[in-house]
Amino acid sequence: MASRLILIPDEGLSEDDKRALRARFEDDACRWCGGLHQRECPRVKRIIFNPADERSVREVEFWNDLEWDRSAVLWPEDLI
Ligand SMILES: [Zn+2]
Repeated sequence: MASRLILIPDEGLSEDDKRALRARFEDDACRWCGGLHQRECPRVKRIIFNPADERSVREVEFWNDLEWDRSAVLWPEDLI
């Protein structure tokens, strides 16, 4: 979805961009890592869904804290 794309220009985010992105944390922050990202969560190694309901998560396995790539994730502190 193009509207969800986060493009950060080389010169950094404008104050307007930061304000808009801060608002998105309210609705779109990832439930697993707490950041905003385009693709599946880089913190999650494996998710097992409930076979009876594919939206219901039965088990989540996370990468070790030192192993996952935070560079693709936008954090609230990036927007200050
Ligand atoms: Zn995440």
